[in-house]
Amino acid sequence: MKIIRVFPRRTNATPDDDLAIVGRMPQLFDEADEVHISVSFTWDIPQAEKLAREWERVAPVKVGGPAYKDPGGEFIPGRYVKNGYTITSRGCPNKCWFCQAWKNEGNKVRELEIHDGWNLLDNNILACSREHQTAVYEMLLRQPRKPRFTGGLEAARMTTWNAEWLVKLKPDYSYFAYDTPEDYEPLEAAAVLLKSVGLLRHHEIGCYVLIGYPKDSFSAAEKRLIKTVQLGYFPQAMLFNKGNNMENVNEWRRFQREWANKVIVGHKMKTYSIHC
Ligand code: SF4
Repeated sequence: MKIIRVFPRRTNATPDDDLAIVGRMPQLFDEADEVHISVSFTWDIPQAEKLAREWERVAPVKVGGPAYKDPGGEFIPGRYVKNGYTITSRGCPNKCWFCQAWKNEGNKVRELEIHDGWNLLDNNILACSREHQTAVYEMLLRQPRKPRFTGGLEAARMTTWNAEWLVKLKPDYSYFAYDTPEDYEPLEAAAVLLKSVGLLRHHEIGCYVLIGYPKDSFSAAEKRLIKTVQLGYFPQAMLFNKGNNMENVNEWRRFQREWANKVIVGHKMKTYSIHC
C-alpha cells in the first residue's frame, strides 16, 4: 500500500524520503492509497485540518499523532520519524502535571518490539524492565553512531546498573530533567551514582531545567540552574509551555535564551561550577 505522510512542519525527526511531505498541498502527480497527516504539536492542528481537506482529493486521509492524544501503537521505523530514531516503549508510570506523555499513551509503560536506531525517543526508558532495557542497550551498542537519549532519563530511577550502562554506551546526548523543586534530591542522588562510575567530570550529561511555570520567578529559576551546574550537569533552560499566555513573556524568553545558548552557558558554568 502506498502511503503518503504529510507533516505540518519539519523538525529534526521528520522523515526525508520521497513519500514524506512537509506542509504543502497536493500537486498534480501525487498519488497514494492513503494519506496520513502526522501532527506533533497542538498549535499545528488548524494547519493539519486544512491539509487534510486538501489531501482528501488524492486518497482517504487519516489524521493523528501526539497532538491528537494518539496513544501510539507498535513503532514502525521510518514512518513518522526518520530512520535512526526509534521508540521501544510508550507511556509512563509517572503523572507529571505538565506532561502529555502519560495522558496520551497511558500511565503504565508498554514495552514494544525493539527496532534499530541510535536516537531513542522513549518517554521513560528507565521505567522499563531490566530485560527490556538490556535488549535496548545491546541494540544501541550495535549502531553505527553514538546513542542519544532524546526522550530523557529519569533521575529517580537511576541505579548503579544504569550508570554502568551509560559508561559503556557513551551517549553523545543524554538529559535528565529538573522540572519542579522536588526533582532536586533525585538529581543529587543520580549525580553521586554517575560520579561513582567516572561520569559528570566534564558536564557531559545534560539536564533540562523547566522555567517560567505558574508562580516561578527569575531568581528561583536561576537558583535551580546554578544548582544544576554545581551538581555537574550541563543545564539547558526550557520555557514552560513555550511562553504562551505568560505576562512577561519577552523577559522570560530572553532569560531562557541565555541559559540555552551553549557559549553563554559555558561562561556561566565557569562562574558557578565547583567542579571545574
Ligand atoms: S517522567 Fe517524563 S514522561 Fe513521565 S510523566 Fe514525567 S515528564 Fe512525562
